[in-house]
This record gives sequence, C-alpha cells and structure tokens, in this order.
Amino acid sequence: MLSKILSKDECAKCKLCCTFDSYDLWETPCITPSLASKILQEYAPEQQFVKKGEHFLLKMKKEKDVDLYYCSLLDSDKGCILGDDKPFDCKIWPLRVMALNDTKVITLSPVCPVVTKKPIGEIMEVARELSEQIFKYADENPEAVKPYLADYPILVVESSKYKETLI
Ligand code: SF4
Repeated sequence: MLSKILSKDECAKCKLCCTFDSYDLWETPCITPSLASKILQEYAPEQQFVKKGEHFLLKMKKEKDVDLYYCSLLDSDKGCILGDDKPFDCKIWPLRVMALNDTKVITLSPVCPVVTKKPIGEIMEVARELSEQIFKYADENPEAVKPYLADYPILVVESSKYKETLI
C-alpha cells in the first residue's frame, strides 16, 4: 500500500518491522479472525495465537539469550510468508493508527530506517491518500488502534471528511 514511498526491495533488505523486543511487542500485528483461519489453513498450520479482544496476536518465540522476537511468519530468505495476505498493520507500516484522547490519528513510526529518510511532504501525501481506508479499517477493527505515543509525528487527524491534517 505504501509503494510510492517504500519499495519491496527496500523492505526485503531491512525486515526491522518484523522484529520485536519485549518493549515493542505491542507493535506486533493485530490479526482478524478470518485472517487467523486463513493462516492456519493456507500458510502455517502450526501457528499459535494470543487472543486480544475479538482479534488475535501471533505467538512468537524469544531468541535464546537475547531480548528479540522474530515474527513467526518471517522467512529469513523470502521475507513475510503471507505475501498479499499480510495483516493490515503490516500493509500500512510505518504508518500507525492511534487514539489520541477520543480522536483517531494516523502517525508515522520513527523507527523505519527507510521511510523516515524520505521527504515528509511525500509521506503526508500518501497518508492522506490512504486515510479514508485506514480510518474505516480502524472503525471496524478497534483492536488495531494503538494508544498514542508522543514521539510519533501525527500526519492525519480523523475528521468527518478525513481531510484535516497537522504536521
Ligand atoms: S506478518 Fe509478515 S509483514 Fe507482518 S510482522 Fe510478520 S512477517 Fe512481518
């Protein structure tokens, strides 16, 4: 979804967003019940999940002697085994949808080493283009909305027309 600012090659070389430590396990993707069934039927029958509200999180194994969790669906050679069936959270990375008080906002994760080097104007344009789709998904899947974090720049603020923006 972010192909205007993030190429498949750039993602393939990095994979940072598929790696977590115990402080950012909250960033692991929210899996809808239908996607969880599809993962079990078509991709990884042995995958285990942790229930989160009406959704699921992927159960990941901690690496030995280091505070690191690789996503259980990450193939070290091929990347994500889900291809186009990736969870929505992963499709919009490094954009995040967060709750600031009672308002949903689209923010930019400060840890993506590729996108954060791109011009902010281009990133905001992509965020604006995707905002209607992102806010609609967030309305339908409230578990996917993360609490707002102060170091995440706000790109789009939800409004009735999804057009109000801040820097
Ligand atoms: S589901 Fe795929 S894209 Fe998302 S964190 Fe796991 S390996 Fe990465």
